[in-house]
Amino acid sequence: MRKVISFISKEEHYEADAAVLACFDFRFHPALRAYIDFLGKVDLIVAAGGVKQLVAPEHESDREFILDEFLKSKKLHETKKFIPIGHIQCGAYGGVNEEKFYIDELGKSPDIIRKAIPDAKIVKAYIGWDGVYEEEA
Ligand SMILES: [Zn+2]
Repeated sequence: MRKVISFISKEEHYEADAAVLACFDFRFHPALRAYIDFLGKVDLIVAAGGVKQLVAPEHESDREFILDEFLKSKKLHETKKFIPIGHIQCGAYGGVNEEKFYIDELGKSPDIIRKAIPDAKIVKAYIGWDGVYEEEA
């Protein structure tokens, strides 16, 4: 295999500051990376639609997969904070261009996460065109 990037990764175990669920939409990755830097050590879960996989999955197994990822983060990295992220104009939602729609969708996620992780601290996050917003849930 051909080495394309030299980079030294840290071997030590870590406790995650948060597990983050985000959409794979590349337009928002620069903002997402900045938010991750703001948060600290993050277990990052990326899936088309992000929060949609929790609140309006195409298949129930999609939701189970995401919740299982959160649980694995908690088990492996003692994660206490879980952050579903919504973003404007998400293709998984048909590209709706209305901030309120995504905030409402995001609002459905804490109850779903708490069913799987009753003691979860949950922060709802949203990426708009001008930045990243968050609110404890
Ligand atoms: Zn999206």
